[in-house]
Amino acid sequence: MSEIQKWQLDTLFEGGSASKSFRDFLEQIKVSLVDVKKSLESSADLGDTILHWEHLGTELEEAEHYVGCLMAQDVQDSYAQQLEGELAMMHAEYTHCSDQLDRHLAEMSDHYFQHFIHFHNLTDREFRLTERRRRVKEKLNPALEKLIEDLAVDGYHGWSQLYSTLIGQVEIPVIENGQEIKLSWGQAYNRLGSADRKVRKEAFENSNRVWHEQRHSFAHVLNHIAGFRLKAYEHRGWHFLKEPFDYNRLSDKTLQTMWKVIEENKDIFCQYMQHKAKLLGIEKLSWYDLEAPLTGEKPVQALPYEAGTKFIIDHFQSFSPQMADFTRTAFEKRWIEVEDRPGKRPGGFCTNFPLKKESLIFMTYSGTRETLFTLAHEIGHAFHNHVIYSQPPLAREFPMNLAETASIFAELVVSEAALKLEKDPHNRLQLLDGKIQRAIVFFFNIHARYLFEVAFYEERKKGSLSPERLCQLMEEAQQKAYCNNLEEYHPYFWISKMHFHFTGVSFYNFPYTFGYLFSSAVYLKALKEKDFEQAYIDLLADTGKMTAEDLAKKHLQVSLDDPSFWQGIIDPLKDDVKEFLKS
Ligand SMILES: [Zn+2]
Repeated sequence: MSEIQKWQLDTLFEGGSASKSFRDFLEQIKVSLVDVKKSLESSADLGDTILHWEHLGTELEEAEHYVGCLMAQDVQDSYAQQLEGELAMMHAEYTHCSDQLDRHLAEMSDHYFQHFIHFHNLTDREFRLTERRRRVKEKLNPALEKLIEDLAVDGYHGWSQLYSTLIGQVEIPVIENGQEIKLSWGQAYNRLGSADRKVRKEAFENSNRVWHEQRHSFAHVLNHIAGFRLKAYEHRGWHFLKEPFDYNRLSDKTLQTMWKVIEENKDIFCQYMQHKAKLLGIEKLSWYDLEAPLTGEKPVQALPYEAGTKFIIDHFQSFSPQMADFTRTAFEKRWIEVEDRPGKRPGGFCTNFPLKKESLIFMTYSGTRETLFTLAHEIGHAFHNHVIYSQPPLAREFPMNLAETASIFAELVVSEAALKLEKDPHNRLQLLDGKIQRAIVFFFNIHARYLFEVAFYEERKKGSLSPERLCQLMEEAQQKAYCNNLEEYHPYFWISKMHFHFTGVSFYNFPYTFGYLFSSAVYLKALKEKDFEQAYIDLLADTGKMTAEDLAKKHLQVSLDDPSFWQGIIDPLKDDVKEFLKS
């Protein structure tokens, strides 16, 4: 395997997990921590302290991301695991500093805060500082919030950890070559994408049997996570959607408009599902058929890495020469790790190094179209980071619903080019199917998750729900979201989908659909406007310092509560479905 397929971590800190320069860097962060703590406790100038604290956060991020890369490239690296533990303790101290700083901000009068921002030249950080100040004020008094946070370790996050343990222990039996073997949930899940319906059905049914046996334990976990959350919200006087809206800097009105337009357009996507069932030779799709590939005699030819990178650069070039240049640099400087070898963590990610102002990409490139699109997606993330480095750290923190703007954009540039160039009808149909399948996930699957969570949280206010009731709510949500189009649903989805059990953020669903449609809107605008490059870069640079509504207004000149904005994004997708229906 050629060297160009491995990243160069040594340019960050030489010597891997035993690096001397990294050790020195950690010691330097510890000194910064002590300094920031001291100035927060003394009467030091808060304007200066904010800048020191901001820089400290950047240093910690750099260190944490480096260790993350060490762990990803070699899951057995025990030194890296030790470093991770050390950094976690440092991070806890940093969080303590952040809380203290927020309280200082909250204590200022509105008038003084305005004066403070201007006097210290912090206007480009104003959005984030105002947000932090408001968030503290919307919470209970510091002593009570501290108590909630302390109790959350065992009483809240502990449940989420228990979920990970339980799901990690699950063994799903399947028959292979006449023998029974046991699969992890991850392995069984992969079988749901098999071309063989028997394989999909077996994995689905046997996992459901396991979920059924363990339903009471999993129901406890989900009920307690939601119960803790709702109790904290009740004390603060919050609705359960307040926090997810706030995290995503998005209004309820925007979200309801988006879902309404999606619902009005579901019909043609339902026709796609019916047509796909026909192509698969079945009466009606079941839950386990939704990710089934269309099979054909000849698989799409693999694209070698060098040809893949050239394809990406060439197509980026037509949209944005700066994006193409950036990508060339990323390949030349070997910021990308794609080698196919054992001992590597699965999946892909892009991680940033804010001090060095570089991003690294980690994935495994196998030459399929999917991995080509993933590579473009991750480069999109890296480009977003590259653009946002022009901003101060406090103006770089973009929310989850905008985090995918550049990545999905980059992916669209490459996947749409691949689709446009594909002349072979069989390959073209496969690409189209992949594209529509993705839309189905965002419009139907994620919608079902959202509907389920709203119904569940509403009912959970009155007490715990039985596993049977959870299944009933889930099936109702899926029937509604899929417009009664499936033969069989997945009532135990509340167990199998990890996202319902996250405690870091709640309602980990609608930001995906929003992000997908928003970046599609950016892509459509780029298609129409020849000189869109600078406008695109300006939009990315602003993702960390305004609400989604303001960003759309400023850079796309649209209102997110206007249904025609969403309709304009869905219309071209409907054309794809129409083409698919002719096959
Ligand atoms: Zn992404």
